[in-house]
Amino acid sequence: MAEEIKLNTSIQPTDIVFDCPQCGKNLAIEERGAGMTITCPDCQNTIQVPYPESELIEEGDDGGDEQVRLLREQLAAAQGRAAELAGELETAQAKIERLEKTRSDLQGHLEQISTEWGVIQNALDRVMALMQDLRMR
Ligand SMILES: [Zn+2]
Repeated sequence: MAEEIKLNTSIQPTDIVFDCPQCGKNLAIEERGAGMTITCPDCQNTIQVPYPESELIEEGDDGGDEQVRLLREQLAAAQGRAAELAGELETAQAKIERLEKTRSDLQGHLEQISTEWGVIQNALDRVMALMQDLRMR
């Protein structure tokens, strides 16, 4: 190795930040180390420091904005969906209330019919008794 380039522990804005192609460890090295071969402090493999690509960094920044925009869109969509669901829940609750009312109405009708049926049954019993009475004479 021609020159000893130290791996940085605190990352500077000008540093080349890359992952070791052998073990994947995140490494940072000063800018002038670009293209040099170094020994990975983690896996001890000899690796080459990549050249910084300013174009890639710019794209990365755009990608970040894009990501934020996408996340905002997703958040707005999620909020819209939440409002929609709240509306659906209200509708469902109103339906349940209506059904509950219908059920108690029907229950009332059923009780009324049952009472009336009892009256009719009594009347029929009396008629039957009277008829039997008449037949016996
Ligand atoms: Zn490594």
